[in-house]
Amino acid sequence: MILPVAGNWHSIRLGTVMADSKMQLMVVTDLDGTLLDHHDYSFDPVLPILDRMDEEGIPMVVNTSKTKSEWLAMREAFGNDDPFIVENGSALYEGDEVTVFGTPREEILEKISPLRSQFKFTGYSDVDVEKIIAWTGLDRSSALRSSHRGYSEPLVWEDSPEAENEFCRKVADLGLKTLRGGRFLHVLGDTDKGKPLKKFQDAGYALIALGDRPNDLAMLTTADVGVIIASPGDYVLDAGEANDDLLRSEETGPRGWAEMMTLLLDHFLKKPAI
Ligand SMILES: [Mg+2]
Repeated sequence: MILPVAGNWHSIRLGTVMADSKMQLMVVTDLDGTLLDHHDYSFDPVLPILDRMDEEGIPMVVNTSKTKSEWLAMREAFGNDDPFIVENGSALYEGDEVTVFGTPREEILEKISPLRSQFKFTGYSDVDVEKIIAWTGLDRSSALRSSHRGYSEPLVWEDSPEAENEFCRKVADLGLKTLRGGRFLHVLGDTDKGKPLKKFQDAGYALIALGDRPNDLAMLTTADVGVIIASPGDYVLDAGEANDDLLRSEETGPRGWAEMMTLLLDHFLKKPAI
């Protein structure tokens, strides 16, 4: 089935997603720069879409680099109690059940400690909450929640791009992984935002995933439909070989999220919103 799309989009092949009319849709979404505005964390444009998803019984799984306590504090504003994935694919929470895909943070800090003499960077574990507020623009309690990390260490890179590449190679040799997010270089276990999705696919869900940065690519390419949400300014996410398979919003952040979800829900549910 070909979905004709507007603007600068090309026709998109949705393939097997359309094969089963009884398919159960699930939306998997990044937060910062995708569901939330990159600068002020606002999300008003997505609320009507969330109401529509509720009516249709479509769950929304948040898949974020944020921590469990950050999302728990936030999710009421979205009326969401669906499963969620934190710290870049490190852990999946479903009710009381947690499935760990990553590496405990203490182990990560121990492993990267010898690299501190070779590279210039500052991690969450090196600073107080004031510094985290300065880095993120979060209020104090949000910044504290962001510091309650179980499976990853966000770093502010203070060395050259060449040194960053070298650092990433050395971290890989330690059996860990690095991901470049909007603000931070994340060091985590050998996982990504795509790995936990297999569980939902095995349960029969057709997945629509939305994200805006390189750390979202594993999620976008694992999903049945991957959507790149445009970023403010000149930034364009290069998905490499997957560029032709992924949809792209025209609007940025939550407006782009609402734009694309309206189009996809109209398409999959075969009825336009009132
Ligand atoms: Mg993002």
